[in-house]
Amino acid sequence: MSDTLAPVRPGKLIINGEAVDAASGRTFETTNPATEEPITTVAEAGAEDVDRAVRAARTAFDDGPWPKMKAIDRSRVLWKLGDLVLQHADELARLETLDNGKPIFESRQVDIDMVARCFHYFSGWCTKLGGDTTTVNPNLFTFTLREPVGVVGAIIPWNFPMIMVGWKAAPALAAGNTVVLKPAELTPLTAIRIGELALEAGLPPGVLNIVPGKGSIAGEALVRHPMVDKISFTGSTEVGQHLMRTAADGLKKITLELGGKSPNIVFADADLDAALRGATMGIFYGKGEVCAAGSRLLVERSIYDEFVGRVAERAKKMTPADPLDPKTRLGSLVSKHQMERVLHYVDVGVQEGAKLVAGGQRQPVNGKGAFVQATVLAGVENHMKVAQEEIFGPVLAVIPFDDVEDAVRKANDAFYGLAAGVWTQNLKRAHTVARRLQAGTVWVNMYNFYDPGMPFGGVKGSGFGRDLGAACLNEYTQPKSVWINLE
Ligand code: NDP
Repeated sequence: MSDTLAPVRPGKLIINGEAVDAASGRTFETTNPATEEPITTVAEAGAEDVDRAVRAARTAFDDGPWPKMKAIDRSRVLWKLGDLVLQHADELARLETLDNGKPIFESRQVDIDMVARCFHYFSGWCTKLGGDTTTVNPNLFTFTLREPVGVVGAIIPWNFPMIMVGWKAAPALAAGNTVVLKPAELTPLTAIRIGELALEAGLPPGVLNIVPGKGSIAGEALVRHPMVDKISFTGSTEVGQHLMRTAADGLKKITLELGGKSPNIVFADADLDAALRGATMGIFYGKGEVCAAGSRLLVERSIYDEFVGRVAERAKKMTPADPLDPKTRLGSLVSKHQMERVLHYVDVGVQEGAKLVAGGQRQPVNGKGAFVQATVLAGVENHMKVAQEEIFGPVLAVIPFDDVEDAVRKANDAFYGLAAGVWTQNLKRAHTVARRLQAGTVWVNMYNFYDPGMPFGGVKGSGFGRDLGAACLNEYTQPKSVWINLE
């Protein structure tokens, strides 16, 4: 892993167009979870820094050029930021892999493309956002303006640190808002770098501020700040609930994306080779630290034993390896803490009566790291903890079902409702099951696909509101009704 020894610049806060230290001078170390070595130090935002960032965003919104800029000029800046992400693809991908432990294949080939496409796609919306003219009365001219909400506080998690900047910042900025973004303390590096690139692209000072720091301090200060108009959050259910209560005090709009326990349903009539790829990729991609991971594999009983055998065989071939090696497909979990949480769930599953048919162990690489084997638990029943709680690691719970009714009932019998997969060659069944599943996204004969043009978010315990797609622009704009008397 000699590449990890190449120095990474210390990270600063990005406030009002400048890279600055924290007012307290405090820093924290960010660590490579695969090698357990420190990567660099990062300025640690406290409440005072968050206040400075929010005030900068407020001024940039109230008095600055960004919301008043011609839409086409705003569009050009966001497009350029997308281009800069592509131009710095190798650097950003390496930072992401060092910070998060994910395979460089994913950072470089998948995440970079998504981030760039977010800025490119939403740059197109700058010129297309508009209100309606309405027909209330011939003596009136009535119309709506679609206006930005103001200062957006974005709080993002550690599993897709760079992609989340694109998902949250690109639409918020396209709609004319200003943003203060708090990356997760575990993975701050790419958000800071994108904040720098945004300035290079021509984003005016204060429009995108980045405040790495602890959730309990910097995140809390952001949510409580009276000058913040809207919170957009992706992370755990507990923190999401807490943020919603806090946001209520300030009557702030809030969007919550809170993870899932998504069912991936394989009917006996499916193309089973494709379903096998979809089942394994659906859970082991991103080390299973993916909110939409297909972590509950529901398999029709007539093919259950054979399919479980094939899934287990494939999982055993997925060896954890050096995340910086382009051939690696299973990297290190984000932290030892997360690894312990995941391994604990494996034990719980076995105690509950599930059968461990692949993996289940930590597997250090070069003696180090938070690597966990691709793990398959068979004979799982839907009420078990490993079938109901989000594990957020490479652990698949495989559950048998009898027929369509049983599949839909089990799929929907969960606290969460983020995503679902359906594998069948029966067109009618594909459509009817997709409609009956309680989920924000349903993939049919595919899994884990995303596009800036398709809304993403959940129902039930997975939260509400949407990232991406035209739908997410409703989260970042509000209509103003204008009445003009023509009499
Ligand atoms: P958290 O919900 O704690 O973290 C998400 C973000 O919220 C981070 O930026 C975090 O900051 C911040 N945060 C934490 N507390 C507060 C607070 N009081 N006020 C404002 N912001 C706050 O997730 P964890 O990292 O603890 O992960 C735990 C579990 O959550 C995972 O195992 C997984 O099940 C789930 N999760 C779901 C995700 C999803 O994509 N939906 C993403 C990540 C986790 P910081 O970390 O810097 O303290």
